[in-house]
Parts: sequence; C-alpha cells; structure tokens
Amino acid sequence: MTKLNGRVALVTGAARGIGAEIARVYARAGAKVGVLDLKENLTRGTVASINEAGGQALAIGADVSDAAQVRRAVERVVEEFGGLDIVVNNAGVTRDNLLFKMTGDDWDTVMGVHLRGTFLVTQAAQEVMVGRRYGRVVNISSTSALGNRGQANYSAAKAGIQGFTRTAAIELGPFGITVNSIGPGYVDTEMTRATAERLGVPVDQRLAEVAATLPMRRAGVPADIANAALFLAAEESGFVTGQVLYVDGGRSVR
Ligand code: NAD
Repeated sequence: MTKLNGRVALVTGAARGIGAEIARVYARAGAKVGVLDLKENLTRGTVASINEAGGQALAIGADVSDAAQVRRAVERVVEEFGGLDIVVNNAGVTRDNLLFKMTGDDWDTVMGVHLRGTFLVTQAAQEVMVGRRYGRVVNISSTSALGNRGQANYSAAKAGIQGFTRTAAIELGPFGITVNSIGPGYVDTEMTRATAERLGVPVDQRLAEVAATLPMRRAGVPADIANAALFLAAEESGFVTGQVLYVDGGRSVR
C-alpha cells in the first residue's frame, strides 16, 4: 500500500462521505490528519474512527469560505503536527435547480464553498508548503463539470476548480508542490441520497438507474475516490500535476 508516513494532511468536509473516507485512508497510510468540517463536533466520528484504528487526527471546525477561519485552521494543523504536506479540498454543497428557477443565493452559496473555499484553503496551505519545498494539493471536482441538468452553479464551480488546479499547478510546481483534481462520478453519500429524496426517488432505485448507464455497472463508493486521492497524495506521484482524474465508472467515456 502507498505510504504517507511522516506526512501531515488536512482534509476539508471530512465529517462524512468522501472526505471522511479520504481522512481515514490517509491516516491508515501513516499520515497525521486534520479533519475539518463546519463545526468541530461534526468531525468527532471521523476522528474517533481514526484514533480507534491507531492513527492520529485533529478535529477542526471551520467554514472554508471564511478567510480568517481557514487561516486559523491551517495554523492549528501546523502547531499540532509540525507542518502541512497534503491538502484535500473536498468540502461541498449543492443547491440544485433548473437555471430559470436558480436564485442568486443558490449561486453564491455553491461558489462560496467550492471555489472560494478551494482558493482560500490552497492559498493558506501553500504558504507553509512553499517554505518546505514540498506539497500535494488534491481538489475534488466532479463529472458535473462536463454539464449536468439542474446544476448550472455546481457545474460552473466544479469546472472552475479544474482551471484553478491547472493554474495553481503552474505557479506551485517550481516549489515541489503538485496540484491535481479528481472528478468523481455518482458516489453513494448523504449528498446524493438527499438529492434522490428531493426528487422523490427511492435510493436503491436511483443507484440502480445510475449503474445501468455506466460501463462499470455500479455507482461509486467513497473508497473509490479515497484510493485516487491516496495516489495523488503520494510522494511517488510527484510528476503528475495539473490533471483531472475522473473516477466515475466510465461516465465520461460512455
Ligand atoms: P457530503 O455532503 O456527504 O459531505 C460534504 C461535507 O462538506 C459535509 O460534511 C459538510 O458539512 C461539509 N461542508 C459543507 N460546506 C462546508 C464549509 N463551508 N466548510 C467546511 N465544510 C463544509 O458530500 P460528499 O458526497 O461526500 O461530497 C464530497 C465532495 O465530493 C464535494 O465537493 C462534492 O461536491 C464532491 N462530489 C461528490 C459526488 C457524489 O456523487 N457524492 C460526485 C462528484 C463530486
């Protein structure tokens, strides 16, 4: 298994779903992990599961769209664990609606968490990473960046993350820092379960419908994304930068 021994990671939106699984996989690989979500108490479950498995984790409450809270969060990780090597910008929300019904708030909320959040966390982290001449930044984009009905805000934000990733890769490469994104397809989490509920479709039916459209004939699970995030966080992946790795059961090539 890929090793992250001696590394320090910060994973945003890690209270549940994909972020929680990335935090657990990183900890299992030997990293010390800052587990960040909106409120510190939300992260307790992820932190407990890491500690019970013999890993080290720090619970952090912060809103990724708030510059002061992000700064403080990065400082806490550095104070507690002595550095910062890996950042995963995973925190996310949806405010789905058809374009003609989408409100300005729906737009701003999604942009604030995904785009502004990714910008603020990466900016604060790179200050530490540049000094150490080493870093791995993993941004969670989505196949929705390719277009998805009802998600004009989310699609624009996730496509924006890809442009941000490429530009940050150019600027930070000379300092030993790689910046990549992962484009998950449909992954079974509370986020997608809430969407199915909102549409009035039973979760199992929704998962079966998704599976039928995909070459791999199944929906994704958080571990699928965490495995890709482990690859991109590894020291050995140091020649991979500015890329989007779609982890989508083949949705983007079907
Ligand atoms: P989720 O809703 O289960 O988890 C998202 C987490 O982010 C939550 O714990 C939430 O509290 C946290 N969060 C939201 N706003 C925040 C903020 N301002 N500051 C800090 N934390 C905040 O979602 P998930 O399915 O695990 O998604 C994780 C990431 O993967 C998101 O970026 C999402 O857009 C992306 N993604 C998910 C899927 C999918 O099918 N589930 C597909 C493609 C991309």
